Amino acid sequence: MTEMIAYCGIDCFECGAFVATRDNDDAKRREVAELWSKEFLPGTLPEDINCEGCLSGGVLFSYCHDCKIRECAMARGYANCAFCEDYICDKLSEIFAVAPEAKERLDSLRT
Ligand code: SF4
Ligand code: SF4
Repeated sequence: MTEMIAYCGIDCFECGAFVATRDNDDAKRREVAELWSKEFLPGTLPEDINCEGCLSGGVLFSYCHDCKIRECAMARGYANCAFCEDYICDKLSEIFAVAPEAKERLDSLRT
């Protein structure tokens, strides 16, 4: 497998939390925690940075574990949001604003 496309279109294999977990790399955990604390989730600690990816069925970072997009797409039975008749919904718009590459990925699956 060369990619793991989350329901929202993010490629988990490119995510810092995934990389830090895969490599059990505490320096990377510190780097990701510092970045995400500034840009995304204040108070994120290095020990919070553990994730095996959205589709893994394993350990998930807390935000992704509770993700409303993931919950919604799973409940509707889609492989990801590209297959949804309500694409692009408000929940996705929020993610696309900070992760435009996720939109490009899902758009390409729809064409
Ligand atoms: S599920 Fe995990 S690897 Fe995927 S985007 Fe979220 S934190 Fe990153
Ligand atoms: S409504 Fe559709 S596009 Fe929006 S999160 Fe749910 S499955 Fe994804």
